[in-house]
Amino acid sequence: VSWRNRNITAPRSTEISSVSTSSFLSDFQSKCATPLPVLKQVADAMESDLRSGISTVAGASLPMLPSYVDSLPSGNETGIFYALDLGGTNFRVLRVLLRGKEKRVVDTEYDVVTIPQELMLGTTEELFDFIASRLALFVEKEGDRFQIPKGNIKREIGFTFSFPVRQTSIDSGILIKWTKGFKVSGTAGRDVVACLNEAMERRKLDMCVSALVNDTVSTIAGAHYWDNDVMIAVILGTGTNACYIEDISANPKLRHLNSTSEKTIINTEWGAFSSNLPLTVFDKDMDIASINPGEQIFEKTISGMYLGEIVRRVLLCMAETTELFGDSIPEKLTTPFSLKTPDLWTMQQDNSDELTVVESILEESLGVYNPSLHSKKVVVEVCNSIVTRGGRLAGAGIVGILQKLNEDSKGAVLKKRIVVAMDGGLYVKHPHYRIHIEDAVSELLGPEISNNVVIEHSKDGSGIGAALLAASNSKYN
Ligand code: BGC
Ligand code: MG
Repeated sequence: VSWRNRNITAPRSTEISSVSTSSFLSDFQSKCATPLPVLKQVADAMESDLRSGISTVAGASLPMLPSYVDSLPSGNETGIFYALDLGGTNFRVLRVLLRGKEKRVVDTEYDVVTIPQELMLGTTEELFDFIASRLALFVEKEGDRFQIPKGNIKREIGFTFSFPVRQTSIDSGILIKWTKGFKVSGTAGRDVVACLNEAMERRKLDMCVSALVNDTVSTIAGAHYWDNDVMIAVILGTGTNACYIEDISANPKLRHLNSTSEKTIINTEWGAFSSNLPLTVFDKDMDIASINPGEQIFEKTISGMYLGEIVRRVLLCMAETTELFGDSIPEKLTTPFSLKTPDLWTMQQDNSDELTVVESILEESLGVYNPSLHSKKVVVEVCNSIVTRGGRLAGAGIVGILQKLNEDSKGAVLKKRIVVAMDGGLYVKHPHYRIHIEDAVSELLGPEISNNVVIEHSKDGSGIGAALLAASNSKYN
C-alpha cells in the first residue's frame, strides 16, 4: 500500500447527504443519454443552423465560412510544395513532391514540433517567430530529391491554420478567435498570413503562402484527390469541425466569390454549434471555467481536449458526494485536465478481472489509491457514457450535414455512394468512438440509406491536401 504517495488535501465534505454511487451514476447516465429521439433533434438542429448560417450574413449560430477553395486538386499538380499545419498541440512542416496523374504524390518528408504551452498563451510575434524558425530549419534540410527549380521562384506553402478564419482570398484571412486552449494576444482581427510573412521576413526566409486553409478544407482536398465521392470532411481531434462542398448559385451569401466554378467548400465551424445538446451540470461548469466560456459548446462536448476533463469533473463530484473513493479527495482529482482523453480509452479497454489498468490510471493521473472493484467499474461506466455521447453526437452532426445536402439535391445525394473523410487524433486512436459515430449514422438514416454513406479515415489528407492546394493555387503557373 503506497500510503506515502497519498497526496490528500481536503476531507470529503460531509454536509452533502451521501447518495449511493449507483443512483448518482444512473441519474448522470440519463442526463447525458443519446437515444434516437435526442440524436434526431441534434441532427435536425444542425441542419437548420447550417441553413441559417449560410443564408444570413452576420449573427448566425454557425459561422459557415467560405474557404475560397472552389476547385479541388485535379491530380495533375506537379512540383515541390510545402505545407505548414498549425492547429492543436503540435505543428507540422511538410515537403511534398507531386508528379501528376499517374504518379501522384511521389515523396513526402515532415517534422513535428510540439508547441510550448507558454507560446499558446503568449504574443503573436513569439508564436509566429517560433513557427518561422522551425520552418527555416526544415527548409535547410532540403535534400537533392527536393530541389526547387532555379529562377525567380519562391518556395510555396499551403498553410493549414485550424482556427476560425474569415478568408479575404485564397491566400489571406483574418482570425476571428482562438479556440482549443490558445489565447495568443494580438492575433484576433489580423491576417494570419501577414503575421507569418512578417516572421519569415525577420528570418530572411523567402517563401510565400499560396493557400491558407482550415484543416477540414485541406483534409477534403487530400481525400478528394483519391476519391471523387468525398463531399464532407470532419476533424475529431483536440478540437472538432466539418466542411462540405456547397453550390455557389444556390446561396446569395456566396455570390460575391466571383467564381467561375459552381461549387465551393464551406468551413462550417460546427464546434460552435450548441442547439439541443444533452448537457449535464459538469459540461456547464467546465464551460464556465474555460478560457472561452459560452463558446465552442459542441466542441467541448465531443472533442479530445475536453472528454477527459468532463470525466474528471464527474468523478470528483462523485467522490465528494458518494462513497466512491472513500473518505478523502486526492489533490490530483481536483486538478483541471489531470485526466487526459487517451486515459479514457485505455481504461475502457481494460479487460482484466481486477481492472488493474483502470487502477493504475486512477493512481497515476488522479492520485486515487486502492479503489474497490465496484468503484473501478463505476469509473469505466462514466468513461463509456462520455465517450458514447461524444461519438453519437458527432454522428448526429454528420447526419445534419447529409440531410442538408440531400434536401438541396432533392434526394439525389443519398441515393448513391457519398464519402465522409475523417481525421484527427480522437477519431484515429479511439476505436469505440468510431463505432458510436457509425451507430448513430445508421440509426438515424436507417440501414439501407446508411449503406451509401462511407465514413473513412483520410490518412494525412490534411498535410498533403494543403500542399495540393498550394499547387493548384500556385503563383507561378
Ligand atoms: C477550430 C476549427 C478547426 C477544429 C479542428 C476548432 O477549434 O475552430 O477551425 O477546424 O478545431 O482542428
Ligand atoms: Mg490537426
